[in-house]
Amino acid sequence: MLAKTHVFADTHTMTDRYAVVGHPIAHSKSPQIHSTFAQSTGQDLSYTTVLAPLDGFADAVRAFRDSGGRGLNVTLPFKLQAFELATDAAESARMAGAANALKFDGERIWAENFDGVGLVNDIVRNLGVTLAGKRVLLCGAGGATRGAILPLAAQGPACLAVANRSADKAHQLGHEFASHLGALRLQTGGYAELAGERFDVVINATSTGLGPDALPLPDGVFAPDALAYEMVYGKGLTPFLRQAQAAGVTRLADGVGMLVEQAAEAFVWWRGVRPDTAPVIRALTVPLV
Ligand code: NDP
Repeated sequence: MLAKTHVFADTHTMTDRYAVVGHPIAHSKSPQIHSTFAQSTGQDLSYTTVLAPLDGFADAVRAFRDSGGRGLNVTLPFKLQAFELATDAAESARMAGAANALKFDGERIWAENFDGVGLVNDIVRNLGVTLAGKRVLLCGAGGATRGAILPLAAQGPACLAVANRSADKAHQLGHEFASHLGALRLQTGGYAELAGERFDVVINATSTGLGPDALPLPDGVFAPDALAYEMVYGKGLTPFLRQAQAAGVTRLADGVGMLVEQAAEAFVWWRGVRPDTAPVIRALTVPLV
């Protein structure tokens, strides 16, 4: 008599792989953020870091994809190259000219830029500050400002201004975004031109949060109950936040919430599940002292 044989179905499924690519990359908080999201939503995935050579971004992306990778976050200095590599880019990435998240689908590479929506979600949902009808100032005219303009404009501010050290770069943004903002006109210029203006929300989207320099903001730029938002995170009171505090501002925030919220948007895009961001923001927050 033949022995009974049992055939087991192969129940082993491959864990989906994601990573953040940059140079340097060891400092990145993204693995901690996405691993926590995966645990809290019960998603089976791994999330690691990829250190791409400065002259080898595209090869590093393709190697990750070809070894079964499903998606990547992209950080400095590769956000522009990520956009160029994409076969399909969302409006957020096209207007920023940069991508911070990629998704792979066969030979197609989809690109998104979630920095701006992460900023807005942090301000509106986490900090409880309404942007509709407010006067909003973005300091800086680099990639972070490019990504922030459309999501901020979508909130319906009364005024949206961009000030930059090189005023020409701010004016250039005014031209590029003019046909995408409906009735809203982007007010652009240098810092000195802000004299006599007052804003309800002032966002530092320059890299000065990483150094000792304060911005040359004229007195009176901060409204008495303004929100001062520093995009750099984890540095405590930066020169910009000290400047705001000295002007009497009590609502101060750094970019940790923006970081976690942009990660949450990428997670939803990849996995179709929205993670709870509050515990992750709490875990990563460095007090503003
Ligand atoms: P870019 O390099 O594209 O732009 C830098 C900007 O800073 C430019 O507008 C530049 O002005 C300005 N700047 C630099 N040094 C000075 C200075 N001494 N005085 C005045 N202005 C200065 O950077 P990004 O736009 O990509 O990023 C800006 C900051 O935002 C970074 O520090 C980054 O860490 C942070 N960020 C945070 C995120 C988060 O999730 N929290 C996400 C994305 C960015 P000029 O044009 O005149 O040179």
